Amino acid sequence: MESVATFSNVFYPPMGIVHIAHKLSDLFKDRIKGKDKIVVRTSSQPNSNPHLGTVTTIMTCFSVAEYLRNKFDAEAEIIFDVLENSPAETVEIEGVEYQISLNDKIENGLSKYAEYIKGFDTIFSFLEEKTGIKLIKREYSEFQENKHIRKSILRMINKSNEFIPILAPSKDKMHLRFPCPICRLTDKYAINTTFTAIQEDSAKFRCKCPKHGVFSGLFSLDNLEFIDANTPIRDILQGIMSIENDREYNTFSLMIDGNDWSGVWTLHVFCRGLLLMGYNEIPSRMFAPLILDWSGAKFSKSLYLKSDAYKYLPQGFIDFSKFMEVYGTAGLEKLWEEIQTWAYDTKKIFRNYSIEYLNLILQS
Ligand SMILES: [Zn+2]
Repeated sequence: MESVATFSNVFYPPMGIVHIAHKLSDLFKDRIKGKDKIVVRTSSQPNSNPHLGTVTTIMTCFSVAEYLRNKFDAEAEIIFDVLENSPAETVEIEGVEYQISLNDKIENGLSKYAEYIKGFDTIFSFLEEKTGIKLIKREYSEFQENKHIRKSILRMINKSNEFIPILAPSKDKMHLRFPCPICRLTDKYAINTTFTAIQEDSAKFRCKCPKHGVFSGLFSLDNLEFIDANTPIRDILQGIMSIENDREYNTFSLMIDGNDWSGVWTLHVFCRGLLLMGYNEIPSRMFAPLILDWSGAKFSKSLYLKSDAYKYLPQGFIDFSKFMEVYGTAGLEKLWEEIQTWAYDTKKIFRNYSIEYLNLILQS
């Protein structure tokens, strides 16, 4: 088959929601009406320099925030939850997997988090300047201190039997975990982590470090004991944060994540989780187009980090620092010129794009 990657061969078949929502504003107008501010919420694990998929998701957030701000003549901001708690590496010791976070992994006096966030900051500054929309970076350590979040985590611990099928259908254990206070190693799957004396406002925990033995403490609404939570738990908590903040500050929250979190994940984890938490509303949520490889698979950061995948691609696609070397700010301009238009047309935003398509944009 010959290569057909040309602009004349780009099509936009109407799919799903596009049939009934011709404009993005139509989807949200009933919920935005009367609100003081539009808040786009997204998150990322900065466990490498950003790749092209990360860049497009961030740009999609700005595109949507800018579009809604202009359409509704309202103030808009982006809250970017940056997950400095995500694993920098994992080690297996006596059959148990432990992780060390990006923030705790220090090399040459610099944490992996501090190293990788630089690329993100460059993209944020570029887009803030383009749109005049402010991006507020919030680290996970701050997120988990929030009263609504701690209360919700305690509720999950209280109802763990009901939450486990939603949060961990294969592992059968909630992944709430505490780093060893001495070496910061964390029991990834909470194998040796237990909760006792579980109340509405506190629970005692007990964990085991392979090097420093048993440690324990109290997780409560009022103290600042750091608790780590894995993706499905955080996803539900993000929904709760959206609902609670919108109530408190009369804002309209819109969660935006990559399209790989749509579909079964959203229904099984997010919607069922919120219902089980006792909420009878689901916050507004939409998904940024995925960037797919030639076979239709998501252009995956974790696959790239773990193997030799994507050797055939220009390095600039995989590593943002290389992107800037090869394409520079002119490359960012080209990407933004394309992605800025996505929010203005539901056919463009509710679909995915291939690496070849982005290559066409960058070569144009
Ligand atoms: Zn330890």
